[in-house]
Amino acid sequence: MTSTTPSTTSVWDNLVGQTAAVETLRRAVTGEGMTHAWLITGPPGSGRSNAAMAFAAALQCEQGGCGACQACRTALAGSHSDVSVTRTETAQIITDDMRDLVLRAALAPVGHRHQVMVIEDADRLHERAANALLKAIEEPTRRTVWLLCAPTVEDVLPTIASRCRNIVLRTPSPSAVTDFLVRREGLPEGVSSFAARASQGHIGRAKALARDEGTRNRRREVVSIPTRLTSLGACMNAAENLVGIAKQETDAITEGANSRELAELDAVYGSDRKARASRTYKASQKELAHGQKQRARRRVLDVIDRCLMDMLSVYRDAIAVQTGAQGALVNEETRADVTELARRSTPEQNLRRIDAMFTAREQMLEHTVPPLLALESMMVALRVP
Ligand SMILES: [Zn+2]
Repeated sequence: MTSTTPSTTSVWDNLVGQTAAVETLRRAVTGEGMTHAWLITGPPGSGRSNAAMAFAAALQCEQGGCGACQACRTALAGSHSDVSVTRTETAQIITDDMRDLVLRAALAPVGHRHQVMVIEDADRLHERAANALLKAIEEPTRRTVWLLCAPTVEDVLPTIASRCRNIVLRTPSPSAVTDFLVRREGLPEGVSSFAARASQGHIGRAKALARDEGTRNRRREVVSIPTRLTSLGACMNAAENLVGIAKQETDAITEGANSRELAELDAVYGSDRKARASRTYKASQKELAHGQKQRARRRVLDVIDRCLMDMLSVYRDAIAVQTGAQGALVNEETRADVTELARRSTPEQNLRRIDAMFTAREQMLEHTVPPLLALESMMVALRVP
């Protein structure tokens, strides 16, 4: 596979369907419209953090982002000494992280270019963390550049947003995503065009769908749920299955990371039995376990959320069929199922179902209802009479 993947020819190559944004950032690198604080917004999967990392690399590169030099490669990999990246696995960025970051931002860069501070989830800043950041942005240090990412401008404190230049990323079109998968990732045309449609413009998801059969199978199972909800028992089963799929997928990602982190912690304390029996070791271990649990919980919710978006695409497709909309369905390969669902319901019913899905999503994300419970009542609301 790697032999068919073309090498990167510029840091902007991995941004799909973002011509206008790339043009603005490219110019900024040359000094045109450059400023010390940027807010990159766009829907999930549009490539916000890719854009931030590409910009960071271009700012460190002598050629404005060649993609091949040491500066570009280390910046893109997140190991450049003058590029700090803050990403959060938990619900919020805590104040301590931000204090460290602000202190670091006040330092001169190690190299002779910029000190770039990337915050991937500026929408998850804790209030005190946001205030620390605001102060840093209000009193900029020469050569320090802040790159904040968030879904929309409204997700960030207005006082912060107003001091940033906003770069807006769009949902890339299916054809732009297909083209990216074929040309850049070296994947076959057929599976690429399926993945582009099914991912609804989410690049990471499109890549996973195009590359991995397991991911395609899990999606197929999820999009087949709507037509199978014909009895109360089926609804309960579907809820349980969905939680099962989310846990499976989460375990696959987190297991490796968890044991790696524990090994790192153990390495700090060495093999000294007394050190390991100490209170600080036990406290660190407890803290690590707590953080890992929170991260796993968040990932389960992320996966469930994505499954819901996949299911939702079936109802949207059904409405498209019912209203005679032209063009390809998101779930073109299961058009027969979609048509059957459309035949057995009205557009109003399907809109109500979509509403029920958003309600379940809110309940889970606001942590008020356990996922299984929220999904059970949602599935019942989706039941096909
Ligand atoms: Zn370079």
